[in-house]
Amino acid sequence: MKKVLKIMCLYPNEMNIYGDHGNLLTLQKRAEWHGFATEYIQHEPGRKLDVTADIILGGGGQDSGQDKVKNDLLKNGAALRKMAAAGTPMLVICGLYQLFGHYFETNAGHHIDGIGVFDAWTKAGPVRLIGNIVTETELGEIVGYENHSGLTHLGKNQAAFGRVVRGAGNTGADGTEGARVYNVFGSYLHGPILPKNPRLADELIHLAAIKKFGEFTPAEIDDTVALKAHDVATSRPR
Ligand code: GLN
Repeated sequence: MKKVLKIMCLYPNEMNIYGDHGNLLTLQKRAEWHGFATEYIQHEPGRKLDVTADIILGGGGQDSGQDKVKNDLLKNGAALRKMAAAGTPMLVICGLYQLFGHYFETNAGHHIDGIGVFDAWTKAGPVRLIGNIVTETELGEIVGYENHSGLTHLGKNQAAFGRVVRGAGNTGADGTEGARVYNVFGSYLHGPILPKNPRLADELIHLAAIKKFGEFTPAEIDDTVALKAHDVATSRPR
């Protein structure tokens, strides 16, 4: 019997743009290559949150999508904060990254409360920050594509996920990109992020496997194509 990793997507109907769905496909495939079976859990507003999920993914969305999911997210905020503190690996992109902070205030001055997993807050700026982005993180170089109005400010003790090498990142000014707390990664990078950055995908699988089974023996995966995609992405114009 293969060991099972349960992968949950938060709000894939409302929060899923610029290819974010590819993060799920990448995790499913790589978990399989590492010898696991996977179970997919789709969390939609109004459903009971499955707190047995081993990895949680969340994508980006329009301001209106963020508004649609906010009540359900707030309802489940305490449970998600508890899972985060217990070490459940999570990857939240752009719109949900913003709502894993304290709040997002849109261009129209609309205030959308977040769940405060990250000590961070976001306010829409005067221009959208759009284009290919390259960052440097503890997991090496991470590449992707950003498109956001929100400028995210990190609290004094909040660690960023990475530093911007080329592109805008959290504010377009402070050189930081994303946030990390426990095993929760927040990032502005779409693209999607995981296929071109297999090390981050494997880190999520590694963290989930250690938490659930106490061990992880990675398989040898031929990443020639993924790494080529990574390299091509770094050379694309902004
Ligand atoms: N609506 C948010 C913003 O514009 C998030 C965008 C996104 O998820 N790409 O900042």
